[in-house]
Amino acid sequence: MPGLDDKLTDLFHQVLDRNPGELEFHQAVREVFDSLGPVVTKHPEYADVIKRLCEPERQIIFRVPWTDDAGQVHINRGFRVEFNSALGPYKGGLRFHPSVNLGIVKFLGFEQIFKNALTGLPIGGGKGGSDFDPKGRSEAEVMRFCQSFMTELYRHIGEYTDVPAGDIGVGGREIGYLFGQYKRITNRYESGVLTGKGISWGGSRVRTEATGYGTVFFVDEMLKATGGSLEGKRVTVSGSGNVATYAIAKVQQLGGTVVACSDSSGYVVEEDGIDLALLKQVKEVDRGRIADYAAARGAGAQLGRDGSIWHVPADIALPCATQNELDADDAARLVANGCMIVAEGANMPCTPEAIKVLTEGGVRYAPGKAANAGGVATSALEMQQNASRDSWSFAHTEERLADIMRGIHDRCLATADEYGSPGSYTAGANIAGFTKVADAMIALGVI
Ligand code: NAP
Repeated sequence: MPGLDDKLTDLFHQVLDRNPGELEFHQAVREVFDSLGPVVTKHPEYADVIKRLCEPERQIIFRVPWTDDAGQVHINRGFRVEFNSALGPYKGGLRFHPSVNLGIVKFLGFEQIFKNALTGLPIGGGKGGSDFDPKGRSEAEVMRFCQSFMTELYRHIGEYTDVPAGDIGVGGREIGYLFGQYKRITNRYESGVLTGKGISWGGSRVRTEATGYGTVFFVDEMLKATGGSLEGKRVTVSGSGNVATYAIAKVQQLGGTVVACSDSSGYVVEEDGIDLALLKQVKEVDRGRIADYAAARGAGAQLGRDGSIWHVPADIALPCATQNELDADDAARLVANGCMIVAEGANMPCTPEAIKVLTEGGVRYAPGKAANAGGVATSALEMQQNASRDSWSFAHTEERLADIMRGIHDRCLATADEYGSPGSYTAGANIAGFTKVADAMIALGVI
């Protein structure tokens, strides 16, 4: 198989054969395998671990029946893939989106193992969700769906077993309904069973902001490593959901200008910078579209007409929407326009071809498992606060997040150096995450 170490080629074929049709899962596994050649050369004992790692410890698929406001019954499919618990309870978000299927949940769960290991915190990897689409549904419908989803999921999760959180389509509102139903069924106020909770009922400060803030802290470290800063930089951010919103906020706080953002219906360009307060009003409160934001801003904001948001010239590009949203063509435009850094706020937003174009074009590329680990890291801080019945201040929690992102950044670079790929955040993230999990798996025996 071109570009893949011989020892890993057989293993990769086994993954393809055992998981037919799960294209995103294949892509995620391949991205990790591409970095592991020097690791299995140095440590042949890891080959067996890799085989075990690619098979989730448990995969749960269940029916989610619910009734809409007109009394009609709907059936959705629920998933929870409990991928690896060598380092701690399974930890990873729930995604509610019509595109969700087993392959997507497995790709996200697989990535989550390494990301969680990189944080240095005691959390394993998992992911879940449903093909339910919350868009256009009433509050009551979303609540009934969440209650039905938890009526099955509750038996599989727990603060020492599996701790879900939010992801696309699952924000504070959904976590509230899910937690409420868990509490009702189990008769336990088990705060540590879900993260992303509201502050008044067991949540952590900074959790809402954490993924976006963390991505920008990571970029700041990348810039500092070469003597630069965010001051005066032009930045494009895709999406306008949770990750994008707080990435925009932190870029602005650190002196950069976000000149474009998007949603699944298009993108908006605003040379003077996105008005974050208005964007939040339109997207979070009014649940409107990016065109509504552009209309409210008037002449200063242009709705993108050609190509994608990645065609807008920028020093730094932050894909914060969804998987495979930035392709080779987009990457070529970023290179041609002099982009310096692409850091993934979303999970696997760059296609493998795009990553190749970016790295060959001299753009410094930070993979999601490193750059967006701030969300899950702060979830682990929420679990710490829940376990000690404590609640930390915003400033303290944000400082912990910044420290963790610095640690991940430095670990990536040190590991990349150690394994002969200096400067490669991809190699550093994959190898540092993998070796941490692999060593724990070896210590725990063949289970
Ligand atoms: P979210 O709040 O649901 O927001 C997703 C945003 O992406 C929405 O603005 C959505 O637009 C937009 N979008 C979806 N598909 C798109 C496309 N093809 N092109 C452009 N925009 C598109 O979700 P989120 O929590 O921010 O998650 C975003 C990404 O970050 C996902 O990959 C997720 O797995 C990853 N992530 C999230 C966290 C976290 O803590 N939330 C942590 C780590 C990684 P519409 O409103 O039009 O759908």
